[in-house]
Amino acid sequence: MSTPPDPNRVPPLPERWRRIVVKIGTSSLTDDHGRLHRPAMWALARGIETLCAAKGCQAVIVSSGAGAIGRERLGLSLPLTLPEKQAAAAVGQALLMLEWDRALAPRAVAQLLLSVADVQDRERYVNAKHALEATLRLGVVPVVNENDSVATAELRVGDNDTLSAWTAYLVDADALVIVTDVAGLYEADPRRSPGARPVAVVLDAESVVEPQDRPGTTRGTGGMATKLRAARIATRAGIETLVIGRGGSALEALARGEVQGTRFLAKPRTAARKAWIAEQAPRGRVAIDAGARDALARGTSLLPSGVVAVDGDFEFGDAIDVVFEGAVVARGLTNYGSDALARIRGLRTDRIAEVLGAKDFDEVIHRDNLKTLARGDSMPTR
Ligand code: GLU
Repeated sequence: MSTPPDPNRVPPLPERWRRIVVKIGTSSLTDDHGRLHRPAMWALARGIETLCAAKGCQAVIVSSGAGAIGRERLGLSLPLTLPEKQAAAAVGQALLMLEWDRALAPRAVAQLLLSVADVQDRERYVNAKHALEATLRLGVVPVVNENDSVATAELRVGDNDTLSAWTAYLVDADALVIVTDVAGLYEADPRRSPGARPVAVVLDAESVVEPQDRPGTTRGTGGMATKLRAARIATRAGIETLVIGRGGSALEALARGEVQGTRFLAKPRTAARKAWIAEQAPRGRVAIDAGARDALARGTSLLPSGVVAVDGDFEFGDAIDVVFEGAVVARGLTNYGSDALARIRGLRTDRIAEVLGAKDFDEVIHRDNLKTLARGDSMPTR
């Protein structure tokens, strides 16, 4: 980390982004007494608007603050019991949303409260993804937080840095922007070593040694360690992560192309996605003919016409193995469940609608969702 990255290897900040996730921590939204700090929030809202106008993107906000704001509203002093924390989050979440609605007006905001299961359980994942997509299509700004009033202990993600990385993944964001009170990653903790220098670019988040820090303030949950974890999750999925501080002005600066913090560069997106697909546990398998095997080797998608047999019980979006003459030649995410696929196997795409009553996809597995194996490779197993 002490050697600065070779500038030739650092791509410039993209001119355009399609979609970004902006994570705002409790310390950026509240004052020293844990009260909602409206001017700070409104400055952040303006910063997000400016950034999105400059980059041509839509934003999803991951906002903390519910616990602190609720605690202040109820006049509860620390430490809180678990039920008190749940109540504070329930009260604070409503106030938090009300203020985001005002700060982002005339845009409407949508509250999405997620928990671990919404990202890890496939059906709930697809559901959460649909809800986010629908709000974005309507020009609404989704504001995500953890469902703290009902998600406790092992049901919790626990910190909004990690939740923001998952959200970025869920909405297929181009960038994850984490706004915090420490402007990025430092070579050492700047609060303890005042001379510590900030790190402008991290080529590989995996190579950074995990800081043993505590949260930046008593109000927030994460510290730089959770931000680094978030950067690892997101960059592995091909999403560049920026940790910037402080507040609205850092977002305005980013709109001008100036990063007041640290850029964690992403792994190439397609390669990242395919590596992730290769790690998924297969729920079934399809056998293909020689024509399909040759087509896959040329990098094309798998069509129903090339499928000769279907084995297993799987659904849309599940990982399945593609087998030729008994050997696994690829793994991919299927567009058709096993029942539908058994009915359309061997057919030309123009017959899918006739047999199934509707055609959602031409491909059984789209090439972007297909990891082919070179001869001699084997798939990782779980
Ligand atoms: N979900 C928590 C809240 O809104 C914050 C978690 C975090 O700060 O990371 O209070």
